[in-house]
Amino acid sequence: MRRFLIAGNWKMNCGPKETSTLLQGIEEEMNTLPKEVDGLVCPPTISLTTAADELQNIDGMALGAQNMHYEDNGAFTGEVSTTMLNEVNCEYVILGHSERRQYFGETDKTVNAKVNKALNDSLKPVICVGESLEQRKADEHVLRVKKQVQGALIGVEDEDADNIVIAYEPIWAIGTGETATPDQAQEMHKMIREVLAELYTEAADSVRILYGGSMKPHNAEELLEQPDVDGGLIGGASLKADSFTKIIKIAEQLSS
Ligand code: PEP
Repeated sequence: MRRFLIAGNWKMNCGPKETSTLLQGIEEEMNTLPKEVDGLVCPPTISLTTAADELQNIDGMALGAQNMHYEDNGAFTGEVSTTMLNEVNCEYVILGHSERRQYFGETDKTVNAKVNKALNDSLKPVICVGESLEQRKADEHVLRVKKQVQGALIGVEDEDADNIVIAYEPIWAIGTGETATPDQAQEMHKMIREVLAELYTEAADSVRILYGGSMKPHNAEELLEQPDVDGGLIGGASLKADSFTKIIKIAEQLSS
């Protein structure tokens, strides 16, 4: 019912030249994605135009940005608008990644403003939520993530909910090599789906909830086979054509 979405968050890696090389590498492994799986790459802003050109050669792989501003334009040095992202064929935008919350002062409030702006301007937000290690140890992880999901979705109506993607990313698992166990991931994804069900009449079943946090080819299968895990938001392993396409192939096998 829900198609897998395998998404690469390239973070601050790959300028235009490396973007071409990486996407050509992906194309060599896979110039058409399996029909059961949606793909997504999110390069840095400066590489979006190059990526859009290269992606014309990879069927089924969409383009996303890693951030955007909630205003249309103006005196916001260093920022990028939805109009600009639309112009370079972005379909998705990652919002509220824990690194943006931690290093760039993003809050549930700014994430919420961006989610509404993105949806209003035809971009699909990939809304990142997740708890810190301290919050998990203090048994506050469920409450924290619940609040992040509810906070991000204020003002999002039923008809728009189908266009959102949630990424559950426990902060302690991002870039650390440590992964949530399949049970831990499923527990949180199920809880997030219950929160969605309280907010929306129909969308709860169709919204894709991705897992993020050191997903690699060796652990992707056990995570993706959980009933409420609908894909992955992948950092490190998305920077190599080989490991990224391996995860896509694992998703394909689980779909058939
Ligand atoms: C991420 O940046 O969203 C992420 C999950 O990174 P990694 O896969 O490297 O842990």
